[in-house]
Amino acid sequence: MSDTKNESTPLENLDQWEEFLETATYPEPEHKKKDDYRNYDDPARDCVKEFYRLNHKYQTFDFVMKKHEEILGPNKVRKKMTVIQAIELLDTLVDDSDPDIELPQIQHLLQTSESIRTRGYEDWFVLTGLIHDLGKLLCLEGEPQWAVVGDTFPVGCQYSDKIVYPEFFEANPDADDSRYNTRLGVYKEGCGLRNVDMSWGHDEFMYRLVKDYLPDPALYMIRYHSFYAWHREGQYEYLLDDHDRAMLPWVKRFNPFDLYTKCPVAPVWSELKPYYEDLIAKYLPKTLMW
Ligand code: FE
Ligand code: FE
Repeated sequence: MSDTKNESTPLENLDQWEEFLETATYPEPEHKKKDDYRNYDDPARDCVKEFYRLNHKYQTFDFVMKKHEEILGPNKVRKKMTVIQAIELLDTLVDDSDPDIELPQIQHLLQTSESIRTRGYEDWFVLTGLIHDLGKLLCLEGEPQWAVVGDTFPVGCQYSDKIVYPEFFEANPDADDSRYNTRLGVYKEGCGLRNVDMSWGHDEFMYRLVKDYLPDPALYMIRYHSFYAWHREGQYEYLLDDHDRAMLPWVKRFNPFDLYTKCPVAPVWSELKPYYEDLIAKYLPKTLMW
């Protein structure tokens, strides 16, 4: 699908997309304006734009079905790993281009989980913070960046114009396909998000790995944390059911921990590991099939 090296890695690093959301799209209220926190030179911003162009062009209904078959289906060659092994493996996706603080993947997970823990939330919420992005391991399997990260959105129905860079959907063949380009497309009014196929990425992959083990609010946070058109823009109301509406406050509660937690004093993984080993063991099996 994405046939050149360039098209699979438009970003210099995976975090560029989240930094763009945090600084340019959804900056923290009253906190910082995008330019005093981090200065982007234009090439970096161009990378993000190119990333969105590819994401919106290639994330079609058929593409998502293909990924479900390939990655969630029975023929996938899976790796047996503990959550701790997965965390440590993900940390090999190091981001060394941040001008302010060094923030490898493991730091993002820990800062998210530790800030949830400091606020005294339930332990499964803390665990959710720790594991929410482990689906990014897909990048180490050679998946293009635009099929691992990026805001997610329903496929198989009309794209919301509240999705970042909506104009790039013009290049998506589904936008001209009468099966997929109407308000409801392949779905029924109020069918519930569980019956809606989302653009493919790290959220859905991680959700499938843990769906039998965590409470529902945790699963919603993992599965929909990048669905900004829903949890920040209030779009797609007509696809929701009552359960989705009941879960939305949890997804919203999670988002600031994910987007804005950047403490300059880094949590130390080796010190925190015993606590997290116990927490993981409380909810999840010893190993998961990744
Ligand atoms: Fe994420
Ligand atoms: Fe995250």
